Amino acid sequence: MTMIADNLQRIHDRIAQACQASDRLPTSVGLLAVSKTFGPDAVVQAHAAGQTAFGENYIQEAVDKITALTHLPLQWHCIGPIQSNKTRLVATHFDWVHTVDRLKIAQRLSEQRPAHLPPLQVCIQVNVDGGPTKSGVAPAEALALAREVATLPRLQVRGLMCIPEIAPDFVAACVVFARARALFDQINSTGMTLDTLSMGMSADLEAAIASGSTLVRVGSAIFGERR
Ligand SMILES: *Cc1c(COP(=O)(O)O)cnc(C)c1O
Repeated sequence: MTMIADNLQRIHDRIAQACQASDRLPTSVGLLAVSKTFGPDAVVQAHAAGQTAFGENYIQEAVDKITALTHLPLQWHCIGPIQSNKTRLVATHFDWVHTVDRLKIAQRLSEQRPAHLPPLQVCIQVNVDGGPTKSGVAPAEALALAREVATLPRLQVRGLMCIPEIAPDFVAACVVFARARALFDQINSTGMTLDTLSMGMSADLEAAIASGSTLVRVGSAIFGERR
């Protein structure tokens, strides 16, 4: 087995254990492999080991990789910040975007989504731990933004995403992730049907799964340390 295949197996084991610990089905948590800074060869290796969904932060780097790998049936998720001048690239090349936190960006993505592609799948990024300079909409504004994004014709709202600071321990991490989960439940109680709660990374996926994550985004624990 390659190192990447080996690491993927370890992550699947961690996910399965975390699900068991909180009485969840292992199939209720998806794995997004975060391949930022790694080349197409690393993605090819992960795909050979069964991984199909990949996350990227840097738009131009991602587009180069996506274009080089169109022969493989991969699903690409944009998980990095999006400037207005990059929305067309995102709308053209990605299947999912996790980092929508402004209506203006969502409108541009909808207008620029090519007609021959299915709607772009969207998560609203929420600033759950409250840093004033962090990206993500304030929790109190998430419902209003989700509703507005849901009216855009070429986008489909699927859920919420958050990137809290790494907490000192499991319990502290759960406290922050639980806020995202509560918001997710609150939005669904208004009649929306979100099915995706994108949270948890290499260091804190157990706490995220205990708190209701449906999609963990794992980079370094699969591909190794980034330079
Ligand atoms: C880089 C990144 C990840 C993966 O982080 P690791 O700690 O390497 O698992 C997940 N989500 C986002 C938004 C990232 O930028």
